[in-house]
Amino acid sequence: MRVLIVEDDAMLADGLTATLRHEGFVVDSVSSAEQAEAAIRVSDVDLIILDIGLPGMDGFTWLRRLRSRGAEQAVLVLTARDAVSDRVHGLKLGADDYLPKPFGPEELTARVSALARRGRAIRSRLIEPGPLTIDPARKRA
Ligand code: CA
Repeated sequence: MRVLIVEDDAMLADGLTATLRHEGFVVDSVSSAEQAEAAIRVSDVDLIILDIGLPGMDGFTWLRRLRSRGAEQAVLVLTARDAVSDRVHGLKLGADDYLPKPFGPEELTARVSALARRGRAIRSRLIEPGPLTIDPARKRA
């Protein structure tokens, strides 16, 4: 399970990284959407923890771009803006879950673990007889 943290607050990013590594996740951390875009091109990221207030492109804009081209990484949106309208906006853009700051390490790991389980459940529905991979959900081989 590889997690990419996109957060410009260095202290928060360090805390998130330490917490998730302690739980056994492989964690990379970047501080802008532009860097995140580069990171997902070179490594197989399963889950993105995405801050909304970022320098340069904001998290919502990047999330919209990701989903509009069919990217399937799970996205956990992280933001101080815990207003209901922002939460709804994030979910409509394709976020899988939402975590308003401030939050405790227990809540973070619980949510990340839940998304990880969901990701594994999706992968386990693939059937792989020899060189072929069959995906019944998408009717693709
Ligand atoms: Ca921020």
